Parts: sequence; C-alpha cells; structure tokens
Amino acid sequence: MVSSKQYSKIISLHFSPDVVRRPMMYNLAKQFDLTFNILKARISPREEGHMTLELSGKEEDYKKGISYLQEHGISIQDVAQSITRDEESCTHCGLCTALCLVRALWLDEESRKVLFDNNKCTACSMCTRVCPVGAMNSEANGDF
Ligand code: SF4
Ligand code: SF4
Repeated sequence: MVSSKQYSKIISLHFSPDVVRRPMMYNLAKQFDLTFNILKARISPREEGHMTLELSGKEEDYKKGISYLQEHGISIQDVAQSITRDEESCTHCGLCTALCLVRALWLDEESRKVLFDNNKCTACSMCTRVCPVGAMNSEANGDF
C-alpha cells in the first residue's frame, strides 16, 4: 500500500538532448508537489543530460513523479544501488570518511569501524578514487 508520509530519495537521471530543452523539473515540482535538490548536473558533448538529485514529497506523489519522468523517456537509477562496498576488502583505514561530504561513510567511535549508509550516498565517486584497496565501487554511471 502506498502511504502519504514524506518520502525522500537520491536518484540519478539520464536523458536525451530533446528532453534537455523541456521544463521537466518545473513540471515535476508543479504537477506532483515534489521538491528537489540538484546535487550534480552535466550536459555531455552530445547534449545528453545527466543529473543527480534528491527528490522529496509524499510517497504517492513521488511514485507518480517517477512514472511521469519515465513516460518522457528519462532513465532513472536509484543512487543507493550505484555505489557499493566490498566489506571483505575494507580495512577500515578511514581515508574515505574525510572526503564523504554527506557522511555516508563515517567512523563509528564505539566499534572503530567505518560504516557505510548507501541511502545517504550521492554517488560523487570520491571514495572510489581514494580507497587504497579498491573496496568502494561505482557501477553503471561511470564517472558521472
Ligand atoms: S578508504 Fe577503503 S579501506 Fe579505507 S575505510 Fe574507506 S572503504 Fe575502507
Ligand atoms: S560516492 Fe563515496 S564519497 Fe561520494 S557520497 Fe557516496 S559514499 Fe560518500
């Protein structure tokens, strides 16, 4: 069952040059009463658009908004699924925690382990570049 409670998720969008010129984000906010916080946006040399954003609103409105975007040919990826950590490789050195601005990676004082919450991750890929043992991995989105 879809509830009316507040819902928030970080997603990445990929869209064609044709969509870049349309006011999709304005329509999304106006028609479905959603708010969004753009975390990263880029137009490629071929004029395709890439955007990472946090989308918030009532869960039923969120689902309608996602359907609206998909109906207009925008492919959507849940950012929480795009960055993963190989738990066996991580040595809990803590290097990545200094670079993770949204604190998706942080040192737990009690256990002295570095914890990872992929729901806070914005897929900036900083941790994947610095991890000395390659424990943090980026899938599908490449360098976006
Ligand atoms: S930099 Fe790599 S090894 Fe070190 S805590 Fe982060 S994920 Fe683990
Ligand atoms: S990609 Fe790594 S550094 Fe960037 S937000 Fe996610 S966990 Fe933090």
